[in-house]
Amino acid sequence: MSDIIHLLPDSVANQIAAGEVIQRPASVLKELVENAIDAGATAIQVLIKDAGKTLIQVIDNGKGMSETDARMAFERHATSKIKDAADLFSIRTMGFRGEALASIASVAQVEMRTRQKSEELGVLVEIAGSRIFRQEVIHCEAGTSISVRNLFFNVPARRRFLKSDNVEKSHLFNEFYRIVLTNPDVDFRFNDNDEEVFCLPPANIKQRIENVFGKNPRKRLQQQLLNIQSDSNLVSVRGFIGKPEFAQKFPDQYFFVNGRFMKHPYFHKAVMLAYNQLIQQGEGPVYFIYLEVDTQTIDINIHPTKTEVKFENEQAIWSILNATVKEALGKFNISPSIDFDQEGAPEYPLTRQEVNIQPPRTNFNPDYNPFQSTGYSRPSMDWEKLYSGFESKTQNLPRSEPLTPFDDQTNDNPEVESENQLIFKTESVSSSNFQLKAKYIFTTVKSGFLLVDQHRAHVRILFETFINQLKANNYIAQQILFPEEIQFEADRMIFFEQIQQKLESLGFAFEKTNKSSFSVIAVPSVVGAVSVVPLLNSMVDEVKSHEMQVDDSIGNMLALSLARASAIKSGQILSPAEMDDLVNKLFACAEYNYTPDGKKIFIIIPIDEIQAKFRQ
Ligand code: ADP
Ligand code: MG
Repeated sequence: MSDIIHLLPDSVANQIAAGEVIQRPASVLKELVENAIDAGATAIQVLIKDAGKTLIQVIDNGKGMSETDARMAFERHATSKIKDAADLFSIRTMGFRGEALASIASVAQVEMRTRQKSEELGVLVEIAGSRIFRQEVIHCEAGTSISVRNLFFNVPARRRFLKSDNVEKSHLFNEFYRIVLTNPDVDFRFNDNDEEVFCLPPANIKQRIENVFGKNPRKRLQQQLLNIQSDSNLVSVRGFIGKPEFAQKFPDQYFFVNGRFMKHPYFHKAVMLAYNQLIQQGEGPVYFIYLEVDTQTIDINIHPTKTEVKFENEQAIWSILNATVKEALGKFNISPSIDFDQEGAPEYPLTRQEVNIQPPRTNFNPDYNPFQSTGYSRPSMDWEKLYSGFESKTQNLPRSEPLTPFDDQTNDNPEVESENQLIFKTESVSSSNFQLKAKYIFTTVKSGFLLVDQHRAHVRILFETFINQLKANNYIAQQILFPEEIQFEADRMIFFEQIQQKLESLGFAFEKTNKSSFSVIAVPSVVGAVSVVPLLNSMVDEVKSHEMQVDDSIGNMLALSLARASAIKSGQILSPAEMDDLVNKLFACAEYNYTPDGKKIFIIIPIDEIQAKFRQ
């Protein structure tokens, strides 16, 4: 039989390689800008059209290429950055694989103009689908300009795989952030469809962070950041971490090693653990942490698009990082000052022995008079007689006496406490609904007691109202007296614009004040005292982090966020009428058992269980 194995043509091999390196416009941006950095550029301009699908252009003032190099640059495994395998372990440049330009040129139409400073003339190379169309000497600026047009023009399946412009743009911005945050001394510009979205003059790291993320007043970064710093043989740690009180649901968190962005879940834990107990669950601090280590002790050579980095001294660095963050958070100041063993040290000063410790007391309302109203009518049930005579006993209590008989044995366990209060209080309420701990509405049903979580119930009620409003596009808006301004960075603005219309159907009204900010001039009437700016910010974060498309899921998310923010909170005292209203509205909902995010709204304590307890 004849031989059947043959080598693939370069164009096909390159396309296969491109599948690894170039996944979307953002990968092109990353490769081109990293090349510009490696070429020593001090000013880099990025231009995109249609989220990079039509054009991604990067112009730099770096060292440029000779005529031969300009042609060589597009060959696979052609690089000026490493020479042999040993170099792989001392990498300081961003690129080294020599496959980016070859890959890009195999799946797009590329035009490159480049000139070295020492030369009078530069070179133009045009290449598309790995085929050279033009190579000639030209007049051009020193440095390099590469335009990449119509990405995946020859691989329709991949082009179709690209996400919406908004999603692709947010990927582009993310890649851009990663690079500009490690190169603060480089001047960066970013133009999106001819509009300048970033203008980042050379700065120090803190100013650069502020220039990139500081547009949003929510973040007011200068006040939020703490400096971190530590040096040892293994690693030098520099950077900024967010103060715990500014923790957010979707914080910006960045690790860099030797000037390269990396993801490192294990080190992330070291940082998070340092914040243990300082921030709420579900939230995190912002951080921008820059590690410098000996290049010999890390392995970045895992995968062209993967950002994980392997560290030789992972555990030791983990501890150093954790300690550095803790120190910055000032935790060491309030721990005993024995600094050779921080492990297990208490986080708060111990109470002095001689101080008389007061047991915590239960809160109660001394003015509460359970017998004020006579309008109480209990549903008639057999078991009522179990309590006959109870009321007359309680009536003898002085007016300001705490309601619970367990006051002296104050119990911090809410389960036990609520159970104890349960029966006692039912007998002394003025309506069939009663509020427990300003959190639960206590009501009776045929089969027993019903405890309704007031906040969750209201979330459900509002959620259904908002969903209906969205469907019917019918809402009640309320003008705000002093419009609030809200600003978004470019990448967040696109997500805001994506949800703007739905927000308007819910009763918000906005007025654009400039390209990165809006005034909120009306809010849904039910929103009341909710602070609108953080609410809108968290909605935008939610859409962004889940790469949501405009469809029903966005409507659901907005309705849920709005419902959560506007619903009555735990701790809010409700009048009997309000309780009645809430319970009635809850049971008028299409679904009343669970909140839209699946949490139980009420529990039933069946009468049988209560009776069984008395039999014990
Ligand atoms: P790598 O960056 O891994 O070396 P690339 O395919 O990205 O591989 O680039 C190939 C080579 O082209 C680089 O090693 C470099 O010599 C040259 N090159 C690419 N972009 C530029 C640029 N903007 N300025 C100067 N030289 C460049
Ligand atoms: Mg490169």
